[in-house]
Amino acid sequence: MMSDSALSCEALLKDAAALIGGETPRLDAELLLSHVTGSSRTSFRAWPDREVGVVEVARFCALVDQRCEGHPVAHLLGEQEFWSLPLKVTPFTLIPRPDTECLVEAALLLDLPESAKVLDLGTGTGAIALALASERPGWQVAACDAVTEAVDLATENATRLGLPVTVARSDWFADLPAGSFDLIISNPPYIAGNDVHLAEGDVRFEPESALVAGDDGLDDIRRITAGAPARLSAGGWLILEHGYEQGEAVQRLFSNAGLTDVETRQDYGRRDRLTIG
Ligand code: GLN
Repeated sequence: MMSDSALSCEALLKDAAALIGGETPRLDAELLLSHVTGSSRTSFRAWPDREVGVVEVARFCALVDQRCEGHPVAHLLGEQEFWSLPLKVTPFTLIPRPDTECLVEAALLLDLPESAKVLDLGTGTGAIALALASERPGWQVAACDAVTEAVDLATENATRLGLPVTVARSDWFADLPAGSFDLIISNPPYIAGNDVHLAEGDVRFEPESALVAGDDGLDDIRRITAGAPARLSAGGWLILEHGYEQGEAVQRLFSNAGLTDVETRQDYGRRDRLTIG
């Protein structure tokens, strides 16, 4: 997208949305223009003729070009909201998805002790751990990730938000110090290596290590379910996100590991999304 003159925000948004295409072109364009101008999205609607200066137009056009190449809006903004928390994101971790908020909801409905010990495995940006810490100040929330950049990012997000989450580097349970938890929760990688969706859209710009788990997408869920019983306190819970066609297979893995009260629940799009036990 090119322009070397000042333009009204409505004209800019219209042109950009037509170029961006995809599922949410207008929203994407508004988020990018808001980022560049520092003005709210509602101000664009209230004042569509407002002129955007040449320098801001140039910066906006450059971002629109990157969006057209497929770069996720969250990467261009450097931020993504999860559970109403503004989280810094980088290309080293998965961009938090709204569906993962279902895991947070499920956790908050559990009858856990006042100072429950909680572990978010493969925390990435820290999204799940930080959401839980923001809702339950009494819980002792720990998080881990095998990727050093994710450990640093989750730590930075915790500091920025002033939330007491401790983050450690660990390949699932392998490098964690001894100890057990009342709740273990995770959004692990669960996509099959040959899934065609990996070659399409925003997901191309996210790390494969956060998405892909072997030939059937279940390699990491196998490791987590196998390791969880030894790390759960008596009466503790495990909550895992998974693909919408993996509910039965994941329930079997929970049961094989000796977990009881196993149940698969759906996301906001009414597709199987998490299993709890
Ligand atoms: N739900 C994500 C997607 O479909 C994948 C998240 C994950 O693998 N944990 O892009």
